[in-house]
Amino acid sequence: MLSLNFEELNLNRCVLAGVKAAGYTKPTPIQAQAIPIALKGRDVLGLAQTGTGKTAGFMLPILQRLITGPRGPVRALIVAPTRELAEQIYQTAVDLGRNTKIRSVAIYGGVSKGPQVEALNRGAEIVVACPGRLLDHVNDGSIDLSRVEVLVLDEADTMCDMGFLPDIRRIIAHLPKKRQTLFFAATMPNEIRVLSKEILHDPTTVQIGVIAPAKTVSHTLFPVTDALKKRLLLDLLQQTATGRVMIFTRTKHRARRLAGDLENAKYRVAALQGNMTQNRRQQAINGFRGGKYDLLVATDVASRGIDVSDVSHVINFDMPNTVDAYIHRIGRTGRVEQSGEAFTFTVPEDEVLVRKIEAVLGARIERRRLPDFDYGSFTPDTQASRSHPTPEREAPRHRFGEQALKNAQRRRRPHARPVARSTQPRPDNQNNPQGPRGRRPRWRSPAPAANPAR
Ligand code: AMP
Repeated sequence: MLSLNFEELNLNRCVLAGVKAAGYTKPTPIQAQAIPIALKGRDVLGLAQTGTGKTAGFMLPILQRLITGPRGPVRALIVAPTRELAEQIYQTAVDLGRNTKIRSVAIYGGVSKGPQVEALNRGAEIVVACPGRLLDHVNDGSIDLSRVEVLVLDEADTMCDMGFLPDIRRIIAHLPKKRQTLFFAATMPNEIRVLSKEILHDPTTVQIGVIAPAKTVSHTLFPVTDALKKRLLLDLLQQTATGRVMIFTRTKHRARRLAGDLENAKYRVAALQGNMTQNRRQQAINGFRGGKYDLLVATDVASRGIDVSDVSHVINFDMPNTVDAYIHRIGRTGRVEQSGEAFTFTVPEDEVLVRKIEAVLGARIERRRLPDFDYGSFTPDTQASRSHPTPEREAPRHRFGEQALKNAQRRRRPHARPVARSTQPRPDNQNNPQGPRGRRPRWRSPAPAANPAR
């Protein structure tokens, strides 16, 4: 099953042309599992992290179904937790469906409703939506969901974390009972399990590995105090060979302030946090993706599901609140066929969560002291959790920075080196698809034409 080619999936040639244009040569494991089942019209419970290729895993069967049948009514509804994720899924629909004449529209808040209503009035067979704005349109009578044939809930666990479950249930009440449902989550907390039981009919479960962080990611903890974190980060960035780096903070305020501090230190950095307008958030993501920024400082909610390939390092400036959040964060690195590193700054109070993460990983995470860093009176405890049960899998151990360098070489990124600090203006890379350092997105086709639906 896993050695399937796209040609063997019997996709319509117009759909297959989209796959080719996107540059996909072989289905990823989740695609190889999910696509044949979804093509049969069956419900799917997909347990997969972001970065596994799950979007195409549900989009291709949707396009295949929609290529025949009526044009005009909303026939596939994809619900996602954040605007960024909705926008990405929408782009995937546009990319893969480019030869199908199937129309898609993205529906989310933070932008005006008018163009969304116009696009719906013109007719769109695929709607990718965030729950709140979708319900607004339902209540305004500007969208008719009575002819939906396929419902996708993407990152259902995130939607649950964000308190969207009541909205999801309200949306589902507007859908035909007879439909196909594809349900994706990276983790299965109890509420999600209950919801999946309620709405899936005789589903086939597809799962990529255990629900644990990607195995291509190596993890390191840096015990530190809160007051030393900023200096530690600056030293760490100086000493490490990195590509694109995502840095996570606990709050919007800390993200904004840290991005400002890094900018003052002459890093090419953008912040991504919930207080920013949708426009500015998108600019930050596009800039990070396109190579204009090397560092993205983000909060959990703002960064969920963002598809930026080739992130070499995730740095948890603040420990997340839950194991799930840790898994989501580090899902940004070590994506399809790549390896990455997760560095986490821990204060003593984080130890309980560290143990839980180690239990999920099945291995003790290495504690590191940054060489030559002035810890003052603080003595980092690099021995903590020694009493942890014997690991089933050995935690990756390496000399600091060495693995990053190897990863970089494996990815043939000649630019991989300590993040450059600019003292001079950088060339604007807006017109250079490879970005100023010759970065080329690995699997993404060139940016699609401007959104015709808005
Ligand atoms: P996703 O998990 O859907 O966010 O996808 C993660 C990344 O994998 C995206 O950049 C996709 O474009 C890319 N991708 C999806 N399917 C494939 C494939 N079959 N081969 C290579 N890359 C893929």
